[in-house]
Amino acid sequence: MGRVVEVLNSSVAGRAATLDRPPLIVLLAVMTAYYIGARVGLALTAPPFPLAVLWPANALLFAALLLAPRRWWWMFVAAAFPAHLLAELQEHVPTAMVLCWFVSNVCEALIGASFMHWLAGPKPGLNTVRAVMTFCGAAALAPALSSFLDAAFVRMVGFGSSDYWSLWRARLPSNMLAALVFVPVALTWATLEPPLLRGITRARAVEGGVLLSTLLAVSVLAFDSGLSGTDSPSLLYLPVPLLIWAALRFGPPLTSASFMVVAFLVIWGASHGRGPFMAQATPDEALPIQLFLITIVVPLLLLAALTEERRAAQERQRASQRLFSTAFRSSPDAMAISRRSDGRVIEANDHWLELMGYRRDELAAGSGASLAAHLGETDRVNVASLTRDVGDFTRDVEVSLRDRRGIARKALVRQKAVELNGEPCDISIVRDVSEQRRTEAREREQRLQLTHLTRVASLTEFSTTLAHELNQPLTAILSNAQAALRFLAREPLDVAEIRTILQEIVEADKRAGELIHHLRQLMKRGDEEFVRVDLNQVVRQVLDLLHGEFVARDIEVRVGLSSDLPQVNGDRVQLQQVVLNLVSNACDAMRLPTGRERTLSVTTIHVYDGSVQLVVGDTGPGIAPNQLDRIFEPFFTTKDSGLGLGLPISRRIARAHGGTLVAEHRDAGASFRLTLPPTRLPVRDAAAPAQPSRTP
Ligand code: ADP
Repeated sequence: MGRVVEVLNSSVAGRAATLDRPPLIVLLAVMTAYYIGARVGLALTAPPFPLAVLWPANALLFAALLLAPRRWWWMFVAAAFPAHLLAELQEHVPTAMVLCWFVSNVCEALIGASFMHWLAGPKPGLNTVRAVMTFCGAAALAPALSSFLDAAFVRMVGFGSSDYWSLWRARLPSNMLAALVFVPVALTWATLEPPLLRGITRARAVEGGVLLSTLLAVSVLAFDSGLSGTDSPSLLYLPVPLLIWAALRFGPPLTSASFMVVAFLVIWGASHGRGPFMAQATPDEALPIQLFLITIVVPLLLLAALTEERRAAQERQRASQRLFSTAFRSSPDAMAISRRSDGRVIEANDHWLELMGYRRDELAAGSGASLAAHLGETDRVNVASLTRDVGDFTRDVEVSLRDRRGIARKALVRQKAVELNGEPCDISIVRDVSEQRRTEAREREQRLQLTHLTRVASLTEFSTTLAHELNQPLTAILSNAQAALRFLAREPLDVAEIRTILQEIVEADKRAGELIHHLRQLMKRGDEEFVRVDLNQVVRQVLDLLHGEFVARDIEVRVGLSSDLPQVNGDRVQLQQVVLNLVSNACDAMRLPTGRERTLSVTTIHVYDGSVQLVVGDTGPGIAPNQLDRIFEPFFTTKDSGLGLGLPISRRIARAHGGTLVAEHRDAGASFRLTLPPTRLPVRDAAAPAQPSRTP
């Protein structure tokens, strides 16, 4: 039998889904079960009435169909046929009646099993209230419908003397009770995970033993001993508390088995003239027994399913708690749960204790300070402003925290509001990013140094021109001052002429001052500062600075600056460096003779999508298409004294500004296109120095 259950069970679990036909042993088991069921039913049939108090054969076939794949069904029906013939023909029932009954019996099993498959799916069980309700529906519907057929057959064959409706009324409760008694046992035990007894504690085994033996004793006493008679109906309910005990503590399998024992003893006692139902074992009088048992079994199965559902829900909750605590303990971040009311940390993982400098026993003793106690005022407000809704974790907030030992750290904090045992709490996740921030600062420092060095290097290249540019106003100042002195020595004093000379001195001085100012700006090694920047102004300043260079190298500069250019969000000095790099590369490129006019074009464009572009073009030899990307690689240079850092640094600056820098192929020469997004900074950040500029 164990093997049969295993095979049926495996079919339920889907493991035998690939088998086309049931193993022979299973077919034999179905045949035997049907035969025994029919014999028991016949034993409980009192002639001349052709119906039993309880008819288990159909219920057993119904259970077998439920546990098997649909494609096995016809073989189960075929296996039941010889069993049916064997059992019924022994009773000298007319052959026509025997065959008709087989048809109605099979119909009942098929209706029940199809109904269950339709509503509960191919993997039946009685572990949920919904499944029990569906099963009870099937257990009522199948006998109700098949009884129409059965009663018609009996009348047709003329077996017995009962009328159609008496037959229908008698068969329905008898077969319904059988389904309610036997199918749950088969379903619940067949779907138990083997081996059945593994994991059962000794206490539970003893409890189960006590329950079953008490139930047996009480049922025998109530229904099968001579003690109880029709005058003591209160004994009827003696087993009920024990059945409830089974439902509450042991779930559907033991509940259904216990009920089967009780049902058997009730009917057995009654059929032997004992117990409260004595003399009611004939089908026409059996209704009270059947109703009594049906009214007990339905709520009992529901109670067992409800208990099972609760147990499964608790198990799921425990599993999710286990999962949470594993994730909590093994998280690479510091995590703590704190009470909303007083901020006290009630649970924390090892990372948290380590980060904040607490011991676990201190936490248990209630001296684990809240996260807020480790934060400065501003950070405390920021963290407190994180959303308090129960839901997903909030965004990260970066804070500076000071641990218990006084060590300052940079950390990212995120929170989630939860309810623990009805109390509002917060889960805080703290990620220590001190090391990351230190590395970033080091990298930034190195980057700034490198950027500064390359800028100084490119300016050094123009030192002669710059010196010359500076010399011009200085010479003008000197010669104007000397001229003024000479005019002062003359009589009469030509005040108007002296004023004009002094005016020219002032202009020349201003020009020198501008140059020095631009140079200092480019030479200084300030921190990155993103503000609103007018790219046209940046271009003008750089071109201004290099004016002498263009004259010296005989370069014609064509400037086309867009008049409606939006400001960009950027670091002025870095953007100046990009323009300086592009312009000085263009000048270098045009050093080589190409036979073309040396023309530098600098254009700014307001693109339709709102972005800003700067295009620097030259009439040099251009860039080979296969080198358009290579020239942006660090240390790629074709110049004798080149560093090969100008373009990679310029591209990095462009990207840091959310933009791009690309080289483009042109018919004559090269062109570089810098694209920057328009600023979204508020107007007050516009901090362009109001320096006068001169366009060459
Ligand atoms: P460097 O100027 O020190 O060589 P860059 O990164 O600024 O470093 O430039 C890398 C290389 O790109 C240059 O050596 C040159 O070969 C090429 N290049 C840059 N600009 C131009 C240009 N306008 N025309 C032709 N080649 C250019």
